[in-house]
Amino acid sequence: TKFGEFPLSAKTLKGLRESGYHKPTEIQKETIGLALQGKDILGAAQTGSGKTLAFLIPILEILFTQQWTRLDGIGALVITPTRELAYQIFEALRKIGEHHDFSAGLIIGGKDLKFERNRMDQCNIVICTPGRLLQHMDENPLFNCINMKVLVLDEADRCLDMGFEQTMNAIIANLPPQRQTLLFSATQTKSVKDLARLSLKDPCYVSV
Ligand code: AMP
Repeated sequence: TKFGEFPLSAKTLKGLRESGYHKPTEIQKETIGLALQGKDILGAAQTGSGKTLAFLIPILEILFTQQWTRLDGIGALVITPTRELAYQIFEALRKIGEHHDFSAGLIIGGKDLKFERNRMDQCNIVICTPGRLLQHMDENPLFNCINMKVLVLDEADRCLDMGFEQTMNAIIANLPPQRQTLLFSATQTKSVKDLARLSLKDPCYVSV
């Protein structure tokens, strides 16, 4: 299977090719088609499986198909447990999204809230850590995600292990219900299943 066998835009295919990606990994094969059909996904996948592109490719395609513009606010939100992972996701997005027109931002702390908020107001794709995101939601009732299409919960088990269960629940309660959600976790513990029940609608189960 090649990436070209999926119904991807020429812009995404070019970005993938130029980044050196030619064939999808197993998790990408399983996830991309379902995500493009609008399904919620519960993905059992480890770091190293290629799960990052399994959610970044659908995000790019969904926003592109919807002709998302800078004025539409946040179209996709990726929640990941650590700053390092957030940077890696941001970097991967920058590469494969090279030929798309969007603005992406990191909300991971380390900068003052006001700076991050100004940044976030101009972002279509936000990659964040849970604690910092909730802080923004608490302090900014106008948090501009009413049109949000895609939510990704990356490494959900690690988020929960780090003590973010309440934080994640509060975030999910604040997000628009008519969204598509992709949840990835290396392990399927009870707390992951609880989070899945809370955040996913009729999910497809994908495992590699
Ligand atoms: P991840 O599991 O998302 O952290 O990805 C693990 C590594 O696999 C990263 O270094 C990616 O650059 C690489 N990778 C992801 N997808 C592909 C692909 N389709 N072909 C080759 N390498 C890939």
